[in-house]
Amino acid sequence: MTHEKATDTSIVHIRPIDGTLDSVVRLPGSKSLVNRALIIAALAEGESRLSGVGWSDDIEAMTGCVTALGATIRVDGDVAQIEGTAGRVRRPEQSLDARMSGTTARFVLPLLGLAGAGTLTAHPQMQARPMAPLVDAMRQLGSAVSTDVLPIEVTSGFGNADRCVIDAGVSSQFISALLMVAPCLDDGLRLDLHGDAVSQPYIDMTVSLMRAFGAGVAKTPEGFDVAPGGYRGGNHLIEPDASTATYPLAAAAIVGGRVVVDGLGHDSIQGDAGFADVLRSMGARVWVDADRTEVRGSGILRPIDVNLGDMSDTAPTFAALAARADGESRATGIGFIRTTKESDRVAASVTELRRLGIDAEVEEDGYRVTGGPHERVAVETYEDHRMAMSLALLGLVEPGIDVVDPGCADKTFPGFWDLLDQLRAEARTTPLVLAIDGPAGSGKSTVAAAVADRLHLPHLDTGAMYRSVALAVLRSGVSIDNHAAVTAAAERSDIRVGGGRVLVDGEDVSVAIRTPEVTSAVSPVAAIHGVRAILADQQRSWARRRGAAVIEGRDIGTAIFPDATCKIFLTASVEERARRRAAETGDVDLDDMMQRIAERDRIDSTREHDPLVQADDAMLLDSTGMTIDGVIDQVADHWERVVDDGPGGMSR
Ligand code: C5P
Repeated sequence: MTHEKATDTSIVHIRPIDGTLDSVVRLPGSKSLVNRALIIAALAEGESRLSGVGWSDDIEAMTGCVTALGATIRVDGDVAQIEGTAGRVRRPEQSLDARMSGTTARFVLPLLGLAGAGTLTAHPQMQARPMAPLVDAMRQLGSAVSTDVLPIEVTSGFGNADRCVIDAGVSSQFISALLMVAPCLDDGLRLDLHGDAVSQPYIDMTVSLMRAFGAGVAKTPEGFDVAPGGYRGGNHLIEPDASTATYPLAAAAIVGGRVVVDGLGHDSIQGDAGFADVLRSMGARVWVDADRTEVRGSGILRPIDVNLGDMSDTAPTFAALAARADGESRATGIGFIRTTKESDRVAASVTELRRLGIDAEVEEDGYRVTGGPHERVAVETYEDHRMAMSLALLGLVEPGIDVVDPGCADKTFPGFWDLLDQLRAEARTTPLVLAIDGPAGSGKSTVAAAVADRLHLPHLDTGAMYRSVALAVLRSGVSIDNHAAVTAAAERSDIRVGGGRVLVDGEDVSVAIRTPEVTSAVSPVAAIHGVRAILADQQRSWARRRGAAVIEGRDIGTAIFPDATCKIFLTASVEERARRRAAETGDVDLDDMMQRIAERDRIDSTREHDPLVQADDAMLLDSTGMTIDGVIDQVADHWERVVDDGPGGMSR
């Protein structure tokens, strides 16, 4: 396996993944849960056992602090055994170092109030991150706190006050920090919130974990009422980190294919697990079961507007997705992260996307991004793990993205670059294709479009591509018998098919390619070997880029994708097909229509190159007398049976 970081430790070259993702990934335990559980276990009476802990800089910062405060921690693999202090934390002999960990700095400071004295330092980057609302609340509780900028010295413990008010609009971590220490105060705590709380799911997470360790927490109209009585040690299985999970799940949406995050289920208490819904809104298919989350993407993303206020750590991940979406996306509700996180992730995302040549802008309460192709550049990461991991995603689709200072990912996820290697190593290079072949008028286009819609797969109408070449040839005045000139015309034409439209050299020709003139010219044009070779290449790379698709035509299951995952040969009697076409075009002369269809069948099925024939392994579906819905059901059912028997069926 080639490691992403092979070339230079200060820069990593991201190589695009040429294929479809198909991975089940195991991620380190939620940093937010581990750092809360470590605080609570350190305050608890007796022993606690945390399993599923993933080790990272932030968690090591926390273990260092709680050890200095008197807890004993034994580590064995991903299990941590903690002997708690029963609320009697000791005064640390030396300064505690929160390093670059915001949760550690915020959660540990009130423990110094409990200890009666101590000093908390951190990485200089942390000086810019606010502490004031927490310091203010601690002072209300009687503690003497030197300043509200790190490093901070506490010189006296909490007094007798059992009530305080905290500004809820800056960071939920201040609220969590006070709540967690509250059961160890003599009289508990009434914590009133001033203003609307940001990141409410993180507060819910704190309360849920406190209760799991025996604390009594009640919600009040103003905030919370926490009973005294401390915590009791216990066992706790830490869920995989939902913020970290956004990277592999977004990779499935961006690259195409499927990724399963093991252990992250629908009962997750992490707000960022809600990012699955964002991916769903952007067009990915998502399943969340009891103990896993699966995302399947096609590489095609819908632009959306989304309020990320409750899952603000996902803002950089969303910026990367938006950069690949087909239009303008907007993230709102995240103004507060501009000052509280490792970097100003709103400005940083916008700056780096712009560096990549993508149209992006900082807005009032978030940012706006218009997706598009990007340039080959090195992106800056601002000593911010989430910036590094999010921007790296873009390099998985198009070449030329270098990420500066990849080591910053170690803050929460040291295994990130290995994860990208895993996704690459397990990617399948052949796309999943539902091939629908058949003669004119068999209902292919209607069925293919409806099935693609139902299966949420992209759809390619290859007939429209041949029609586009025929149109270009008719317009250029070249004789169809001049094969070299027709082939050259095919080569020159930039044909794009998608979203129910066909563009040739930027012009929408969706209607122009359906005229009787084009219909008469298309079969002779399609019989030319050079034309077929050019379009075959385009069709194969189109599907490879998308990873999975419904593709209709005449030779998809025989010549273009002879190994297609699932093949349908759709036909109907000539009479029936002529009737359908006549109804579409308003033609009254049924005999003439039958003759023209039969002639097209004849040319298509007798031509030398890739004639229209049923592949040996195709399912024959004669739609004569069937309703269109009946046909759609049968095709979709067949696909489901072959590849898609519920989540997980895709890996074969
Ligand atoms: O599907 P539709 O009727 O629009 O296709 C127009 C023509 O394009 C067909 O009659 C056939 O000659 C040609 N074609 C082909 N191979 C395909 C798709 C269409 O030769 N895969």
